Amino acid sequence: MTAVDLGLPKVQRTTDTSSAAGSAPRPDTPGLLDQFGRIATDLRVSLTDKCNLRCTYCMPAEGLDWMAKTDMLDDVELGRLIRIAVEDLGVTNVRFTGGEPTLRKGIADVIAATAALTPRPRISMTTNGIGLDRTAGALAEAGLDRINISLDTLDRDRFTELTRRDRLSDVLDGLAAAKAAGLTPVKVNSVLLRGINDHEAIPLLRYCVEHEYQLRFIEQMPLDPQHGWSRAEMVTADQILDVLRSAFELTPSPVPRGAAPAERWLVDGGPAEVGVIGSVTRPFCGDCDRTRLTADGSLRSCLFSQTETDLRGPLRAGASDDEIAGIWRSTMWAKLAGHQINEAGFAQPLRPMSAIGG
Ligand code: SAM
Repeated sequence: MTAVDLGLPKVQRTTDTSSAAGSAPRPDTPGLLDQFGRIATDLRVSLTDKCNLRCTYCMPAEGLDWMAKTDMLDDVELGRLIRIAVEDLGVTNVRFTGGEPTLRKGIADVIAATAALTPRPRISMTTNGIGLDRTAGALAEAGLDRINISLDTLDRDRFTELTRRDRLSDVLDGLAAAKAAGLTPVKVNSVLLRGINDHEAIPLLRYCVEHEYQLRFIEQMPLDPQHGWSRAEMVTADQILDVLRSAFELTPSPVPRGAAPAERWLVDGGPAEVGVIGSVTRPFCGDCDRTRLTADGSLRSCLFSQTETDLRGPLRAGASDDEIAGIWRSTMWAKLAGHQINEAGFAQPLRPMSAIGG
């Protein structure tokens, strides 16, 4: 398979959300309500589709057919859409992701502009942590509140094999820098892959407890451009919990889960916690409060959406804030009840995770 084969798909971009919206009339309410009564208040913004790692389950070694710079939203366009989301549509949490969000030049300015909005949203970022030893302080100063850092292994050789880059020490330094900069609680995201790093669940949790990071295991999802995901091979939430229970006492966290993707447990009585995001075997779509904006200006109501709504076109054609907000509301009104991974006939979305924003 070549980079061209795997490149950005010809995703169906549309501004017409009427067909998907079904027949129910949308109540006249400013928030991002859908037909199932959910209200999206958590905006995931992808800042770039590029990454400086090549995790085998996420991207091919040669990378992908990256978005053209002219297709990507510039900082002014991005700032405007985030402002509309926060000030007109009721978004209260903004998470920057990618690709690798720290590769975006001017990320601190994007964060600062977001932090200047009224009401000020909570601002977080999902990153691989590389470079944070130099930038965590500045990002915190710009207004970043919290951080999630991805780390699938503590073994240098395995890290190099899994990410195709010898950068484990950079990630560990990034974690320490994030904590020192007050980007707490620092959360660690781990994906376990059978026969590769699934024996590391216990050491990863020990490491995170010791360093006061909150570990979350994420079930592998069918979102890779290589289409390598297999239900039979994936490590399930139950399997992860069984392994952890062989070494730790896990008791359900007393904190209500709300719309959080992770189910959480106290480790050995707390205060340390571990979370498991069982998107495949324990879906939580009924409580989903997320809306997603890709780096090239497409709106997605779900990670697994088969269609997306073009905001860049209207934006560049001179649409007003009200018009953009209206398109956003219609898109979210049409959000499906669930991701359908467990339905017959499920088809993986055309965009890979790295181009949607994880
Ligand atoms: N580069 C950033 C990072 O490494 O965190 C942000 C983007 S990355 C796509 C976000 C998260 O998605 C990472 O924790 C990564 O491990 C996870 N991820 C990627 N592909 C996945 C998949 N198929 N299933 C589950 N998680 C996945």
